[in-house]
Amino acid sequence: LQWRLAALQQIKMKPSLIGLSLSELQDIALAHGLPKYVGKQLCEWLYVKGVAAFDEMTNLSKAARFCLAEHYEVGRMPHSEMRRSVDGTVKYLFPVRTPEGSHPRYVETVFIPDRERGTLCVSCQVGCKMGCRFCMTGRQGFVAHLTAGDILNQLLSLPERNLLTNIVFMGQGEPMDNLDAVLRATEILTAEWGWKWSPRRITVSTVGIVTGMRRFIDESRCSLAVSLHHPLPAERQEIMPIEKAFGIEEVVALLKQYPVFCKNNPEPPESRQRRLSFEYIVFDGLNDSKAHADALLHLLRDLSCRVNLIRFHTIPDSPFRGASEKQMTWLRDYLTSHGLFTTIRASRGQDIYAACGLLTTKLQTNS
Ligand code: SF4
Repeated sequence: LQWRLAALQQIKMKPSLIGLSLSELQDIALAHGLPKYVGKQLCEWLYVKGVAAFDEMTNLSKAARFCLAEHYEVGRMPHSEMRRSVDGTVKYLFPVRTPEGSHPRYVETVFIPDRERGTLCVSCQVGCKMGCRFCMTGRQGFVAHLTAGDILNQLLSLPERNLLTNIVFMGQGEPMDNLDAVLRATEILTAEWGWKWSPRRITVSTVGIVTGMRRFIDESRCSLAVSLHHPLPAERQEIMPIEKAFGIEEVVALLKQYPVFCKNNPEPPESRQRRLSFEYIVFDGLNDSKAHADALLHLLRDLSCRVNLIRFHTIPDSPFRGASEKQMTWLRDYLTSHGLFTTIRASRGQDIYAACGLLTTKLQTNS
C-alpha cells in the first residue's frame, strides 16, 4: 500500500479509496490519527451504501472527512457515454482514472436485464494483449491495466446498480493478465466487510492463461468460464494466438486436477460451490461441423461443465461470419444428446454495438 501511495503522489494523483481492503482502510485511518473503526465505517460507505463523496459519510466527524478529502479521492467516476438497445441492454463507457493532463481512457461495461436477473459485464483492461482475431478489443492492442478501483467503479457508478444479480468479467481485457486487480475486486465483492455477494454470482473468464488460472482457482471461489471457441489446437491457434503459449489441452489437463470440476466428483452439480463453463462462438464453416462437435465432446469428456454457444456479432473488416440459427440449434442438440450440457446464449444489444470493443474503438477513431 505504501508503495502504491508513493507512486500515485509522484504522478500527482490522489489515491482512490475504492479498491482498498478493510485492513488497508484501517491503516489509513490510523496513519491520519483517526480511530481504527473508521476503516470499517469507510467500507460501509464505499461498498455498501455506495456514496460518491466524503461529505455524504455522515457518521464521520467533520475533521475526519476534511482530512480524508485532503489526501484521497473516493474514486467514483460517472459514465461518459451510454447506448440503450431496443431489448433493454445498456452499454456504458466509463472513464479510467488517469493522471491530470494525460490522454483520456475508457472501458466498456454492459448491463443486461433479463426478467428477474440483471447481469453486468465488466472490463479489466484498456485494450488487450491476447489478439483474438474475431475481437475488436484484440485489434486495439494493450493500453493499460485497470486497478481494482477502476473495475469496481463500473459497478458502483452504474445507474442500475441495485438491479444487479450477477457479474461477469467478460468485457475488455484478459482477467488472468491483470489477476492481482481482479482478485482484489472479487475479494471486495464477496467479503463480509464489502458487498457480501456469493462468489457463485461472479464469473471470471479467461482465454486459458494456465499460470493465472491455477492461482485464480486456488485463491478465489468465483466461477470460471474458459473462452474455448475451437476444440482443435492447430485451428484454434489461427483465431486465438494464446494457443501457442498455453494450449487448450493443457488448460483442460489443469482443470482435471481439481475434483470440483470433474465428472467423477460425488457432489451433485447443483450443490457445487463453483461452476465451470466453456464459451464457444459459433462461426460459419470454422468450428460448427460434426467433426468439431466430436472433438469438443472428446476434449471435455472428463469435466463437469456446460458449454455456452454464442452468436457472433459481426465486426467491421472481418472475414468471420456467424453460423446460421439452424446450425447453432443442430450443434446444441448434438452436444446435449451426447451428454454435454449446452445452451445457446441469447443475443443481446446487437443494435448498440454490444460486441466487445466496438464502442471504444469508435470513440478513439473519432477523437
Ligand atoms: Fe482480449 Fe477477450 Fe478480445 Fe480475446 S476476446 S482479444 S481475450 S478482450
